[in-house]
Amino acid sequence: MTARTGTVKWHEIPPAEAVDITLPTDGIDGPLNEAGEPCPWPWEPQQLKGAPLGQYHCPYCGGMVVAGVPHPDYAAAPDNLSPTDYKG
Ligand SMILES: [Zn+2]
Repeated sequence: MTARTGTVKWHEIPPAEAVDITLPTDGIDGPLNEAGEPCPWPWEPQQLKGAPLGQYHCPYCGGMVVAGVPHPDYAAAPDNLSPTDYKG
C-alpha cells in the first residue's frame, strides 16, 4: 500500500494506515481548522463513532470536531477565512 502520488486526500486514508503519519507528508495536506491551521492528525473524530462525546476540540489542531464524523476542513469554506489564514 503506497500512496505517494500527491493526489491522495487525507480522508481517503483509513485511520489504521495513518497511525505513523503526521501531516503534511508526501503531498498530503491535513484539513484546516477554524483558525486556518492545518491539522497534523485528523483521523481521531471518525474513530469515535458511538462515543458519548458529541462536539469536542481536536487534540491535534484545537479545531471543533464531532465524534463519529470525519474532521471538518474549513478550507472547503473559504468564507470563514481571511487570505492571511492561508500559509501557502
Ligand atoms: Zn484536528
